[in-house]
Amino acid sequence: MPELPEVETVCRGLRPFMEGKLLKNVTCHRQNLRNPFPPMFAERLEQQKVVSILRRGKYILVNLGDYTWIMHLGMSGRIQRNLAKDYIHQKHDHVVWQVDGVIFAFNDARRFGDMDLVSSYADYSPLKNMAPEPFEISNDEFYKRLKSTSRPLKTALLDQSIIAGLGNIYVCEALWQSGLSPFKTSNTITLSQTKVLLKNVVEVLERAITAGGSTLRDHRAVDGALGYFQNQLKVYDQKDKHCLTANCPGTIKREAQAGRSTYYCEICQKN
Ligand SMILES: [Zn+2]
Repeated sequence: MPELPEVETVCRGLRPFMEGKLLKNVTCHRQNLRNPFPPMFAERLEQQKVVSILRRGKYILVNLGDYTWIMHLGMSGRIQRNLAKDYIHQKHDHVVWQVDGVIFAFNDARRFGDMDLVSSYADYSPLKNMAPEPFEISNDEFYKRLKSTSRPLKTALLDQSIIAGLGNIYVCEALWQSGLSPFKTSNTITLSQTKVLLKNVVEVLERAITAGGSTLRDHRAVDGALGYFQNQLKVYDQKDKHCLTANCPGTIKREAQAGRSTYYCEICQKN
């Protein structure tokens, strides 16, 4: 499932080709993804100028001036860039648009992706209660939000109203790097632990963005490039491997937590 670094990688792949340009030949090959497309969707995108492309959490926001085209990649969504003259329609290319001589195809085999067109993205319900971005939240604000829940710390970190954009991979990595237990009750965290955790969340995300995200299942950059962060994973998907914390004799465990796999070291993630 694409997380913040993968979505950021996609945005960075779109910006140089779409910003300041007109959308043309917008075609929907179905009526819906996870949800139906809004009425007259393709017609309303046609000939619109892309002012800018932003990211909020795992949402891609294409700012068209009067309204915003919102995209979510869901589980398996990807956007592929092709030269218009070379483009051949692929299975699962559900929405296709052209910008100058380039065709973009939103391809989504599992169709958990989503698209919408709204006049104010700030009022769009999934974004309305979304917490600040990891790169923007203050230590005090993050601490206040973590103290507000008695759920396990890992579950709290996946909640988009506590911090935006984090998913399973990066939460496991950041908790391990911070020596914090995923099972710890969120509201028992201290301010100094919060500071370490936020620093590590940002560090892990920045490294992942630099590596082009993680390619564990379906993620591709817009130019088709794979992300390489999976080669840097220390704990996620590393069950039974030796813990890489200096002098730690532990091995990495996997346990189901709120329906997701949690990877952790029970020796150095005790706090
Ligand atoms: Zn360890």
